Amino acid sequence: MKKIYLLKHTDPSYEATTDFIKGDPHNILPARRCPACGRPVSMLPWAPPFRAELETWGKRFGDMAFGSGDDILVSERFKDLWLKSGLVGLEGFEPVEIVKVVRRGKRFKDPPPAYVRVAAQRSQAAFDDVSSGVQWLEPPSPRCDVCRVGGNAKGWERIVLEEEPKENIFTVRGLGAWVLVDEHFKRFIEAHGLLNCPLVPAEEAAHWF
Ligand SMILES: [Zn+2]
Repeated sequence: MKKIYLLKHTDPSYEATTDFIKGDPHNILPARRCPACGRPVSMLPWAPPFRAELETWGKRFGDMAFGSGDDILVSERFKDLWLKSGLVGLEGFEPVEIVKVVRRGKRFKDPPPAYVRVAAQRSQAAFDDVSSGVQWLEPPSPRCDVCRVGGNAKGWERIVLEEEPKENIFTVRGLGAWVLVDEHFKRFIEAHGLLNCPLVPAEEAAHWF
């Protein structure tokens, strides 16, 4: 199995930590639903027009910026490199108008890069809750084997998947909006020096709510 990483939203180095909030007014669509059980399997998708307010915490803008839903902003440079890379798992790439920039770290002067909106694709791969060491306050009962949504988890020791995902960046059944990437994605961001794409090896990605 290829090596898997969790894409975190906060870079511990704060070199280029960049967040965004959707600029108002903004449009959202209904959550996507599981075809088998009808439960919602996504956050509320963001619909055009895409306008965002950026918040920076470092001394440069990130090539990724994170917000509260399933959407991620990536820089034009990230997009151009990605589309040539042969990697798969991102959809969208619509231009985003930056309507405000709040600089909370160093007061650097550079204007923000052009950003586009992307979202990680939903993989057929599923979260292995037993091998991941999930502790339940209340297990999903009955469990829907298509979406794996439900139950109330206290957290998990690590992230283990039941099968190898085909995508290089993706979400999986049973792990909500958490975005995972593979070793090829890691090599891509390292080879191009892309900023603010913090990764944690899946076997160390414990999380307790
Ligand atoms: Zn379902």
